[in-house]
Amino acid sequence: MALNPPPEFYMHRALELALQGQYTARPNPMVGAVLVNKDGEIIGEGAHLRTGEPHAEIHALKQAGEKARGSTCYVTLEPCCHWGRTGPCVDALIQAGVSQVVFAMQDPNPQVNGQSISKLKDAGIQVSYGLLEQEARNLNPGFISRMIRKRPYVRAKIAASLDGRTALSNGKSQWITGKEARQDVQYLRARSSGIISGSGTVKVDNPSLTVRQNDWPEKYLLDIKQPVRIICDSEFKINKNFNLNLKLYETKSPVWIAHANPNKKAEPEGIYLPNKNNQVDLEGLINWCYEQELPEILIEAGNILTGAFLEKNLIDEIWIYLAPCFFGQDARAMVNLSLLNSLENIKRWQIQSVKMIGQDIRIILI
Ligand SMILES: [Zn+2]
Repeated sequence: MALNPPPEFYMHRALELALQGQYTARPNPMVGAVLVNKDGEIIGEGAHLRTGEPHAEIHALKQAGEKARGSTCYVTLEPCCHWGRTGPCVDALIQAGVSQVVFAMQDPNPQVNGQSISKLKDAGIQVSYGLLEQEARNLNPGFISRMIRKRPYVRAKIAASLDGRTALSNGKSQWITGKEARQDVQYLRARSSGIISGSGTVKVDNPSLTVRQNDWPEKYLLDIKQPVRIICDSEFKINKNFNLNLKLYETKSPVWIAHANPNKKAEPEGIYLPNKNNQVDLEGLINWCYEQELPEILIEAGNILTGAFLEKNLIDEIWIYLAPCFFGQDARAMVNLSLLNSLENIKRWQIQSVKMIGQDIRIILI
């Protein structure tokens, strides 16, 4: 008898397939599925690509057709057992006569968690889970955060010189890093549902904060979903008419202005969220992102706004790109923080990875 690959092999393939939905599936999670027959042959594969479209298991079952009978389904997330926008995958797996289901992680939704297991078992299907669970969890931090913490997963991106400065004293900050690092940021943007920036950055750098897929070196086949742009502008001075050359308004993806100006409460593109200092209530803004079903948020702002989010403990992950140059002591710091008078109160981050991206260094903190 030929030696079949171990279960990890198929789950790795399912994880790889899941990535097909990384720029399109949100707010749904990325999920991949593989169907394997008794001889260890893959007879069906699938990924969840877009909300409202079939789930990964359904694509795989369709591909396998009649051959699905008696097969094993490897899937990165517990199959759904409820009627969402599409029918439950558990029913489809039972109907197709699958004999075993192996999934990597349970559904984080406490209301669903584990229900599919008993339904599958009742139908005589063998069920196991936990295989490459961490890898599966890493695919969908925003989805998990929404389910468990009722808030999005928030990343901040900072580009700085080697001496930790982000902008010259006049605020100019674009093009600190090389083109490879900027391309890396494009991928980060592409997987983010929303990008938060500040009015200062918009005025000085005039960024578009969108993904320019045409510039991608390797062609990604699907049309990516553009992130929503959210600009913190307490007085609400920025709008389409502020300056006709604002690149923000050159693409179709929505631009929202988070503000604290009571005279502009009724503006349709505004989010009125004042705090007691008449500035934008950042916790409220993160909560607004949750309500808008934006699972992953990227903060690309100047040192004041990024520092404010950091002080409020609203950032889960930081991506720092360090360029091989020095800006000197008069340039702007990475983040603006209130004066610390004790080392005890400093939050210690964990360095998750360090990587060269072109001529720059990328550090990811969690
Ligand atoms: Zn499903």
